[in-house]
Amino acid sequence: MSFSANPHAEAFWQNVQEGRLTFSRCCADQCGAPQFPPKPRCDVCGSEQTETRTATGTGTIFSITVVHRPPSDALRKHAPYGIALVDLDEGFRMMAHADPDLAIGARVRASFAPFGDRTVPRFVVDTPPHP
Ligand SMILES: [Zn+2]
Repeated sequence: MSFSANPHAEAFWQNVQEGRLTFSRCCADQCGAPQFPPKPRCDVCGSEQTETRTATGTGTIFSITVVHRPPSDALRKHAPYGIALVDLDEGFRMMAHADPDLAIGARVRASFAPFGDRTVPRFVVDTPPHP
């Protein structure tokens, strides 16, 4: 299964199919910047020494929109669905599917759900554990 011509994006999507959300992190001394989408070169310092890490999947909703009219008939059964920008606790922002009822500022965690012909990250409300 191929999702992209970009090998780093390809690896990201393969990890998503296995239920893991990955990003890259700069390994240069005194940098350590998180990179998303995963990429071979640090956006901050230019180092080519990066490592792939698995995110905890927890974060905060930065913005969200709700799709009522999907771009194809095949996706109609998923509507309405949310598309959100999520600030992950590891310090990077990503766009992903989300529960359409979420509000800006909500604490969320990643789940994984089928969408069309693949599995995508889908953020849901992060309910704190019972005391
Ligand atoms: Zn760096």
